[in-house]
Amino acid sequence: MLTDTFGRTHDYLRISITDKCNLRCSYCIPYDLPHGYYAHSKRMTPEEIQAIAKVFVQLGIKKIRITGGEPLVRKEFRKIIRLLSELPVELALSTNGVLVNEFLDDIKQARVVSVNVSLDSLETEIFSNITRRDHYERVFSNIRLLVENDFRVKVNTVVMKGINENEIPSFIALTKEIPIHIRFIEYMPFLGNGWNKDRVITCDKILDIIRASYSFGKLNDPAHSTSKNFRVHGYRGAFGIITTMSAPFCEDCNRLRLTADGKMKNCLFGKEEMNLLEALRNNEDISSLILQSVKNKHARMGGQFGNGYQSADPKNIVNRSMIGIGG
Ligand code: SAM
Repeated sequence: MLTDTFGRTHDYLRISITDKCNLRCSYCIPYDLPHGYYAHSKRMTPEEIQAIAKVFVQLGIKKIRITGGEPLVRKEFRKIIRLLSELPVELALSTNGVLVNEFLDDIKQARVVSVNVSLDSLETEIFSNITRRDHYERVFSNIRLLVENDFRVKVNTVVMKGINENEIPSFIALTKEIPIHIRFIEYMPFLGNGWNKDRVITCDKILDIIRASYSFGKLNDPAHSTSKNFRVHGYRGAFGIITTMSAPFCEDCNRLRLTADGKMKNCLFGKEEMNLLEALRNNEDISSLILQSVKNKHARMGGQFGNGYQSADPKNIVNRSMIGIGG
């Protein structure tokens, strides 16, 4: 039912449950909007999140990822994950890892099997410079905790020129003994995040860096995978590259998004939003709005960056910040 005009069927919904975060990553939170958070009354309540998610599930959503902001800082996180676990879907979580040890049991009880953790540096000082917080040890020990507890763990690393590309081989080294999947993400442009095309380290460049130190092979990419995946011969973990900028994968997109203030986005880069929360609060039928939003989906990149990322002008990007969308 959630099929757009280009024949893409959508069965994966990412729900942001807060636009707050306990880190301050410069590429995610606008420099000039320190505390532009939604008013409490504008955020979906746990019950509203469940009600909207339920309609999506009736329309064909099979997997829901809980994200943010940082989902574990939402006071009602436990209730939200419990309510979502009542729906017949696969649940997944994206987190910066800082609070994982406090919520491990809740995540387990909700049948979450896959957890994505952000980690952009393996050096304490660089981690603190990027995140403006000193939580490196906590994040790293929580990644180990998740692995020990048999979660499928993906580590997301945004690669930015002059900041962390020299650490790519160290990230690969981690996959020798630890069965994690490191995903290097090409730096993407959002409102006020300091992006420019020269700071993007592309997939080709990342692979060149890895090739200089490691011999690796291509893995089969699962359906709708956002990453091109590889493994160093004999290593337990794997790595992948999310090529959003240099080789967008829009033709295979199966993802929809719901922001913490209840707006549906049919694409990470989409300008248009559908206000599902307002409709729900007015007792209106939201399924027709969801279907309409799916029909409105552009072929590529939300209709932005028509000539590729090289010609993108960050000043002309119409979108929220990443923290406001939900990654
Ligand atoms: N707080 C959670 C976390 O850290 O995973 C969920 C939200 S975060 C916005 C989701 C993902 O988006 C993170 O892996 C983050 O690195 C990524 N991200 C944020 N801004 C980005 C950007 N400008 N380019 C590429 N990835 C970005």
